[in-house]
Amino acid sequence: MSVPPRHAGKLGNMSRSDVIVIGAGVVGLSIAIAAQMRGLNVTVIDREGPAAGASAGNAGAFAFTDILPLASPGILKKAPKWLLDPLGPLSIPPAYALQIAPWMFRFWRACQPSRVAQSTSAQTALMDLSKAELEPFLAATDALSMLRKEGNLQVYESGAEYEASLPGWQAREKHGIEFRHMHAAEMADIQPGIAPRFIRGTFTPGWYSIADPKLYTLALAAQFSARGGVIEIAEVKALSPIADGAEVVAVDGRRHVAGKVVLSAGAFSHRIARTLGENIPLETERGYNTTLPEGSFDLRTQVTFGGHGFVVTRLTSGIRVGGAVELGGLELPPNFKRSEAMLKKAQAFLPGLKAEGGSQWMGFRPSMPDSLPAIGRAKTTANVVYAFGHGHLGLTQSAGTARLVADMLSGKTTAIDIAAFSPQRFG
Ligand SMILES: Cc1cc2nc3c(=O)[nH]c(=O)nc-3n(C[C@H](O)[C@H](O)[C@H](O)COP(=O)(O)OP(=O)(O)OC[C@H]3O[C@@H](n4cnc5c(N)ncnc54)[C@H](O)[C@@H]3O)c2cc1C
Repeated sequence: MSVPPRHAGKLGNMSRSDVIVIGAGVVGLSIAIAAQMRGLNVTVIDREGPAAGASAGNAGAFAFTDILPLASPGILKKAPKWLLDPLGPLSIPPAYALQIAPWMFRFWRACQPSRVAQSTSAQTALMDLSKAELEPFLAATDALSMLRKEGNLQVYESGAEYEASLPGWQAREKHGIEFRHMHAAEMADIQPGIAPRFIRGTFTPGWYSIADPKLYTLALAAQFSARGGVIEIAEVKALSPIADGAEVVAVDGRRHVAGKVVLSAGAFSHRIARTLGENIPLETERGYNTTLPEGSFDLRTQVTFGGHGFVVTRLTSGIRVGGAVELGGLELPPNFKRSEAMLKKAQAFLPGLKAEGGSQWMGFRPSMPDSLPAIGRAKTTANVVYAFGHGHLGLTQSAGTARLVADMLSGKTTAIDIAAFSPQRFG
């Protein structure tokens, strides 16, 4: 897509749009384009411009097979061990421990088996929809050439780790997900160069990825502009309902009205929703990575080191080593020792990896306690639609979310039941 995005500069006195989308990440831009496809006139507002948030630095996976919520009894078993290592896969900086406690309590409640079963079935429905919507959406946005179908290889260091993964695979099997367990020799056919300490693996061929998540998000911005959309740079402070729509108020005091407003500002969305009187338990799971120059490793599929909480991915921009969850809120400075710790492990796990010349990044996953996104109308006005909180799966679920929100904006019945994603489900 060669058309550059049109940025109208600061939010000015504009004509009224049918729809304003707040947030130019992969979720907001996918929604904006899906709304344009329904004949609506759309403006996107972002405080920095396209691809400024988590959508730029993620691992690029369409993880359609990841139907099991993170909030599950399995994670409760692993968490105590992980928390002992300050640079391990899961950490809570002491400075944020009190603030995160209410969210952790809700997370813990969401780990009850009955809640996990409900979340899994809702997540599966959204994954199926997202998978079905993805290729038509990529084709319509000239981005089909960025899709890679190289699968994912999850590797295990011990028989015990492999055995512990089996209930999860059985649950996926029930939902029709294809996978293949294997020993080291077969793993080496799929991905040579993995250290011999990894003795078993599971390959999921239905795991897709995008050539580069930042370039994809920028391509969506260009596509949106080419279809006549305008991207405004403004930091949104508040929303308020008006008789036949909603008003968006920027930090600098300027205002804009639209018939409908979609709030998709990633991990910052709850702050804006608060101005409508809603207290939505959105937190951030901060994630880290290092992107090494192209050619740093001959990677043929995404490799997931699940026991260590990170993945290694081949992107147009290079080899990305990333993951980890740091429950540290939106204000603490990044701790790039995490990126370094993952890179060191990656060198040990993939002995041929050249670890020099990388660039580090930290991003804010927008996460609800039960691992499901918030998709639905605001409590006080039907003219504001929320679409945020996709956690580890925002890219994966972007096309499905766009379909659902476009259905809502054009007054249609949503393609799947969205009750489980209600933004108000935590009361
Ligand atoms: C290390 C890591 C790896 C990941 N890997 C994957 C993966 O492989 N697959 C996957 O599906 N997901 C992955 N994710 C998750 C994924 O990146 C997110 O779920 C997704 O990017 C969220 O998209 P978004 O559009 O909701 O938010 P964002 O991309 O964060 O966009 C939000 C936008 O809102 C804007 N904004 C915020 N506040 C305001 C305001 N007040 N006014 C105006 N604009 C505002 C920001 O500038 C930003 O551009 C990963 C995340 C991390 C951190």
